[in-house]
Amino acid sequence: MNHDRSRDLYDRALSVLSGGVNSSVRASMPYPFFVERGDGAHVVDADGNRYVDYVMGYGPLLFGHDLPEPVTAAVQGHASQGPMYGAPTEVEVDLAEFVARHVPSVEMLRFVNSGTEATVSAVRLARGYTGRDKIVVMQGGYHGAQESTLVEAEGDYSTHPSTPGIPESFAEHTVAVPFNDETAVREVFAEHGGEIAAVLTEPILGNTGIVHPVDGFHETLRQLCDEHGSLLVFDEVITGFRVGGLQCAQGELGVTPDVTTFGKIIGGGFPVGAVGGRAELLEGFTPAGGVFQSGTFSGHPVTMAAGYETLKYAAEHDVYGHVNALGERLRSGIQDVCEEQAPEYTVVGTDSMFKTVFTREAPETFEGHCEAGCTQRESCPRYDVCPKNGADVNAAATDRWERVFWQEMKERGVWLTANQFESQFVSYAHTEEDVERTLEAYKEAL
Ligand code: PLP
Repeated sequence: MNHDRSRDLYDRALSVLSGGVNSSVRASMPYPFFVERGDGAHVVDADGNRYVDYVMGYGPLLFGHDLPEPVTAAVQGHASQGPMYGAPTEVEVDLAEFVARHVPSVEMLRFVNSGTEATVSAVRLARGYTGRDKIVVMQGGYHGAQESTLVEAEGDYSTHPSTPGIPESFAEHTVAVPFNDETAVREVFAEHGGEIAAVLTEPILGNTGIVHPVDGFHETLRQLCDEHGSLLVFDEVITGFRVGGLQCAQGELGVTPDVTTFGKIIGGGFPVGAVGGRAELLEGFTPAGGVFQSGTFSGHPVTMAAGYETLKYAAEHDVYGHVNALGERLRSGIQDVCEEQAPEYTVVGTDSMFKTVFTREAPETFEGHCEAGCTQRESCPRYDVCPKNGADVNAAATDRWERVFWQEMKERGVWLTANQFESQFVSYAHTEEDVERTLEAYKEAL
């Protein structure tokens, strides 16, 4: 493949954009390819190379790059009437009503502009509501570029900032436990119960893994939060409207959080975030309550229209049936390839999310695939070697992913996320043919 034009564009970008990119994960070795356009499930780069795309904008693109006609019409219609007003519009009520009808824990919402803004607002809301400062997060969880959660844990689950630029004192309020470690959560509640405003967790780790909850883990979080007067916040920025269809991961897992954060798919491919939950809690935000929250672009009509038409289309067509079936075909196909060629690697994922983690230990037997969409069950043949938390994923051969495998896949026309930690996504535009081609590429690249 020729990448001359991408290399030239990257040279230009390096002079005027910090690190040559506008989001650090977009940088890849030796330089990222620059996208010229999307086409269904594919992207075409500036040199005319075509790739089957499983990055899908890092999750928002449920339909791939060609939006269904009603979504396109709504976006164009709203854009042509003037982009935004700084006043409410009907379509934001439509989208809020739709979400409240489908997501078990949500009665009321506040729309914002990114997943990060949603988690920042949710943490502020929880602190304001409870009058407490501490939040509990999961090691290996990700909640955007926000000060309260960019932390690294020490042995006793206390934390320090994971990046320069965040005061050490901020991290005093954040406790980070390993995902799936019930004992650790119980210890933290025993010590700090009365100080904990919220437990903030992805229902399924989607930025380090994918890692599923073991049976009972979220139920324990729910119970401890109830006992101690803390809020349970599910960050469904990735899983929202991808895992469990329109009811989201919380519906599938059968655990009801107090507050949920959304992003990605809820905006139909446009910048978005949202905080949802019980009305009594959501009314804590100004102007109904006292917790300040505001945003020039929040509830942007074009985004609201894209989100509403996207979710309506998904409700009226077999979108989840299609993406989940192809996700399952990919997971089981990749697992077959691994069984032959790299038995130590573990295929993870659920619904339309998948990932191969370069774990280092092979299971004793390959009999039986892992259960798609499982909460981790001991009956699963791969239970012992499957990552249970962020540390297990970090202990995998993560550098081999970007240095070798990702490059090999890219040169075969299959675009995965450049780092080992983030999930891959299937869209409604992907076809059986894309999947077969991807499995061939896996075979060769592994
Ligand atoms: N929360 C989760 C679970 C995410 O995966 C992300 C982004 O990938 C965020 C929050 C932050 O969202 P955004 O990048 O829109 O700010």
